[in-house]
Amino acid sequence: KLQQIAIDGPAGAGKSTIARLLARQLGYLYVDTGAMYRAVTLKVLKQGLDPGDEKEIADMLTETEVDLIPATEGLRVILDGEDVSDAIRTPQVSQAVSQVARIPAVREKLTIWQRALGEKWPVVMDGRDIGTVVLPEAEHKFFLTASLEERARRRYLELKSKGYTQSFESLLEEMALRDKMDSGREIAPLKPAEDAQIIDTTGMTIEEVVNELLKRLGG
Ligand code: C5P
Repeated sequence: KLQQIAIDGPAGAGKSTIARLLARQLGYLYVDTGAMYRAVTLKVLKQGLDPGDEKEIADMLTETEVDLIPATEGLRVILDGEDVSDAIRTPQVSQAVSQVARIPAVREKLTIWQRALGEKWPVVMDGRDIGTVVLPEAEHKFFLTASLEERARRRYLELKSKGYTQSFESLLEEMALRDKMDSGREIAPLKPAEDAQIIDTTGMTIEEVVNELLKRLGG
């Protein structure tokens, strides 16, 4: 049986950086499921659709393809053949993504893609519903959290290092709203799986968190 490691948690808990480093250490495929929701959201915005229009978005999905390509610097995200790795990180996408992620047809399709990856490769997969819905049989499940301030601070520094400018205050507000929508939705809400190990990473460095996870994996 293939190894599956699920990492869930709220926005900015460091999931993607940690999942990527962990996958590299273990030689597993890293799957950023948030990037898939972001890519679909980018297409919704580009096509001028209303992020709440379930019917239009379900139709759009029948002719949408999202691929994640491992690269030296993390993953490249390919939407219908075009590299959108940077375009999916804009505030516009961040602000609309939770609304799109609530749509049942969107979750259904992305969950199928994600499971297929988990059945084909050993994976470290990060998201909101990996341990609960996508890979409920995963051997190892982690739920990473941190205080809202710390998460906003991390995201602020991450975006800044990539050349984006979004104020700390607006990030804090956006993340709080996104967490509320992600935890409050009916399908696949953000919450730890019953058998997940919960780790509060407030005050920990990335390296410390990765080492903690490796320790808990028994390596
Ligand atoms: O991980 P990231 O912050 O990039 O995720 C963006 C958004 O995608 C989340 O706020 C959430 O609305 C949605 N998402 C989801 N289920 C996942 C991963 C992401 O609903 N497994």
